[in-house]
Amino acid sequence: MRGTGTIGHGPADKPYAEEWIREARALPRCEWCGGAGDKMPRVGLCRSCNNVRKRLIKTQQWVSTERPIANRQGRFLLDRELAIVKNMQRLCEADGHRLHDLLNGEVRPLQLEGWFNDLAARIAKKPRLYSTAEQLGWSFTPPQRQLLAYLFWQIFHVHWQLNRKNYAEVLYSTEVRRAEQRQGKTSKG
Ligand SMILES: [Zn+2]
Repeated sequence: MRGTGTIGHGPADKPYAEEWIREARALPRCEWCGGAGDKMPRVGLCRSCNNVRKRLIKTQQWVSTERPIANRQGRFLLDRELAIVKNMQRLCEADGHRLHDLLNGEVRPLQLEGWFNDLAARIAKKPRLYSTAEQLGWSFTPPQRQLLAYLFWQIFHVHWQLNRKNYAEVLYSTEVRRAEQRQGKTSKG
């Protein structure tokens, strides 16, 4: 049994990052956001996503009863509410896609730099603290970059979950602004 990995416990001896990523891939995950570790209700969603799902059903019912009898302002508010809850679902799924991509594809040094900068923007209020993509590429092997990105995702995932509604509102405002700009352009041209 000598020489079969029983000697030494240093990072160089074993492909720990690969192993960790393999384990992460195998975890049961929420079908929308990719979160793990939470008890999944029967629909295959984590508690947070399941709340979004229930909220969407309620809002759809509410809008379908209220909209026919609402005035213009009322219809606007109902449509807005529904659009925001739909955005919440889209954002849940976007988290899951992001996780899927990083667990199953390559994490480029520039992407890793992006995660560091996102974190720096939150904690140190400096959105461009790092411009070290090249060094990150030299310092970390591809599996290590993948693992680091995964660990960052876990931190941000909690933040995104807690702020789902805010992000959905921001997304809604951005979409409305864009639609207005497009309309402005077409009416001019
Ligand atoms: Zn979820």
